[in-house]
Amino acid sequence: MRAAEMSDQQPDMPNPGPRPKPWIEAIHAYVPGKAKSADGRELVKLSANENPLGTSPAALAAFADAAPAARYPDPDSTALREAIGALHGIDPARVVCGTGSDELLNLAAQAYAGPGDEVLYVRYGFSVYDIAARRCGAIPVEAPDADYGTDIAALQALVSDKTRVVFLANPNNPTGSYMTRADIARVHAALPADVLLVLDQAYAEYLAPEEDDGGLDLAARHDNVLVTRTFSKIYGLAGERVGWGTGAPEIIATLNRIRGPFNVTNHAQAAAVAALGDRDFVAASRAHNTAERERFVAALQALGNHGIRPLPSKANFVLILFEGALSAEAVHDGLAERGYATRWLPGQGLPQALRITIGTAAQMDEIAAAIRTMAEAAG
Ligand SMILES: *Cc1c(COP(=O)(O)O)cnc(C)c1O
Repeated sequence: MRAAEMSDQQPDMPNPGPRPKPWIEAIHAYVPGKAKSADGRELVKLSANENPLGTSPAALAAFADAAPAARYPDPDSTALREAIGALHGIDPARVVCGTGSDELLNLAAQAYAGPGDEVLYVRYGFSVYDIAARRCGAIPVEAPDADYGTDIAALQALVSDKTRVVFLANPNNPTGSYMTRADIARVHAALPADVLLVLDQAYAEYLAPEEDDGGLDLAARHDNVLVTRTFSKIYGLAGERVGWGTGAPEIIATLNRIRGPFNVTNHAQAAAVAALGDRDFVAASRAHNTAERERFVAALQALGNHGIRPLPSKANFVLILFEGALSAEAVHDGLAERGYATRWLPGQGLPQALRITIGTAAQMDEIAAAIRTMAEAAG
């Protein structure tokens, strides 16, 4: 057969070139938090939930001791997995490290779901879940929320015989909502044994000890739970791209089969080990966050008569709803004029909401005062 006969193109039509799979074409790329205004000015970045205290000095010092850049990193992140295991009481063989926890979320979807399968999560869940589902050709299924939080009954009602993976972030981003240990246990107990529950604990270190959602215990005791954590948030290492996950040995072996062979850099491994060891920095970051978040939420609650409603948050940010005369977009733009980058989320179905990361005390005071001024001007 000649080439012209093999092609279903008209002979005079140019070949359109490689076409991505239709499920890849349907993906809306992840929108990162911005650090610049529309007109190019550098802003204080409160749009990506980074740690306002920066990075532990011990972690910064560890960069100097990292293995040489000319050498490939330890493919198994051995020292890091041992440090994670020691801190959390987990067998290091049940830990896998990733290029950020994002890598692990994507690998979990890819390993357990494919074309025709369903990946389930809640409305206003972390935007990576939709991408992770579509990347492998699976069908993303969104359960309705209950006032921006998880509606457990609605989530359970959508579990079908096609469901392969359920993603839950606790606390959740962008809402800040939180599920108790009993809630998480309830969700897990109702899932069939062949459905993987991915519990994304990116903000778990911001919780008080008594608020622990029991995820690590579930991952230790059941064969269908993967818990993921990150060094990007409280540990202040977002730029180094390192996260980890724990679950049954079969799950860890599966993720190890498909992850990047050298997926955590020398610098990231060294800094993450040191960051884990600096409990004072973690405690200071948590205390700062809790105190400033409470103050910020209280200042916003005083603006309730303007239709401004901060959602209760257990994380290092607050999602604020603007349901009155002042719009979230106007506040986003007004804060950018005053030098602050915040996260307006129309692309996630939240044109009425603004997510603001907890920054320094002075920054939060300035932002609360600016929102009050804008609210009073809007009437
Ligand atoms: C920030 C965040 C992550 C962390 O992503 P990394 O790839 O580890 O930086 C994971 N899940 C949620 C819900 C997040 O908000």
